[in-house]
Amino acid sequence: MLRVVEHAHRTDTGRQRPANEDSLLARAPLFAVADGMGGAQAGEVASRMAVDVLQEGIGAGSATVAERLTDRVATANTRIFERARTDQGSAGMGTTLTAAYVDTDELVVVHVGDSRLYRYRGGALERITDDHSLVEELVRQGRLTPEEAAEHPQRSIITRALGPESEVAIDSEVLAVQDDDVFLLCSDGLTTMIGDDAIADLLAPDGPLTDKASALVDAANAAGGRDNITVVLFRVEATGSDGDGGAPVPVTESVPADDPPPAQATAVMPAVTISPNGPDGPDGTAAFAADGTDGPREPRRKKRRGLRAGPFIVLFLVFCIAVGAFFASQTVYFIGNDRGLVTVYRGLPYELPFGIKLYTPNYYSSVPVITLDEAQRERLLDHRVRSLDDANDLVSRLERGEVVTP
Ligand code: MN
Repeated sequence: MLRVVEHAHRTDTGRQRPANEDSLLARAPLFAVADGMGGAQAGEVASRMAVDVLQEGIGAGSATVAERLTDRVATANTRIFERARTDQGSAGMGTTLTAAYVDTDELVVVHVGDSRLYRYRGGALERITDDHSLVEELVRQGRLTPEEAAEHPQRSIITRALGPESEVAIDSEVLAVQDDDVFLLCSDGLTTMIGDDAIADLLAPDGPLTDKASALVDAANAAGGRDNITVVLFRVEATGSDGDGGAPVPVTESVPADDPPPAQATAVMPAVTISPNGPDGPDGTAAFAADGTDGPREPRRKKRRGLRAGPFIVLFLVFCIAVGAFFASQTVYFIGNDRGLVTVYRGLPYELPFGIKLYTPNYYSSVPVITLDEAQRERLLDHRVRSLDDANDLVSRLERGEVVTP
């Protein structure tokens, strides 16, 4: 049997943000932290909505606690998505949500975004959740070291959130708990300001959890307090009804949720490579594009077998046009999506026969396409031809976190 014997929480605006957009829930046996984003208080609305859904309870029924909790998080996503879609002031809002439920014999964790759950056991701090963040994806892909990630200017960009999409992948996990385990839920305003070692040091001394919650928030503020800081701490007592007296608690198990494993997490970012043969191509060019590299192979081979002199002349003309178009294309730019990142391309958004592309990536921004709302995505990634200045200006405004209306 598990029992929450002590819990404490503290949330703080920090030293640089005008408002606190974090929300929390600390009502045993359920604890949660949500970190909202979006302009003009919309982040606060989103994080509050997420926590409110959990506050309604996880419901009863034959489903497991993990399933019911995951279901609540999906409901929160739907509500936030609908509100963002219908209420102008809330457009583009989203929130992280990390929640832990102390069940009879285990801890059930659900998680979307970069708010974290840690377990402090016997003087050692262990992070339980993976961040759904750009830098952590890059670390997983081996493109950044953990040290680089910790200092990365875009380390607050998340790749999953409740709100921006109608569906969201929700991580869930069931953890074995030992007597006297302390769990920490926190927003990134804590973890981007102080490292895991510092957190462990602040959890070490004897004393009530309220003191530790305060110490953590104070340390994050002392380090700069660049973001809202929220911490929720709870201590669990395990009373053995299984009578094994001190036998180790069963090993951690994970619940296979419908979300992809971490390695595939990037799939959530719309990993659409640019599709230059789209309907938005001006007339004429679309005809060339019909024979792109993605076309079925069989028909193409057939065509080649039937070649005569006439088609060679056509091919030669196509080649001339291609070369001409290539040179003409090199002074214009457009914005598209490359592996989930907003990207400035040089050239025209078309592909000629034989895979001749009229575009090359010119600049990969740090902005995941998933962080844009649908309206923005449509207007920005429309492959409209722009000047270099125009394209760069739009993308750098996005990188500064401004809401861009192109
Ligand atoms: Mn934050």
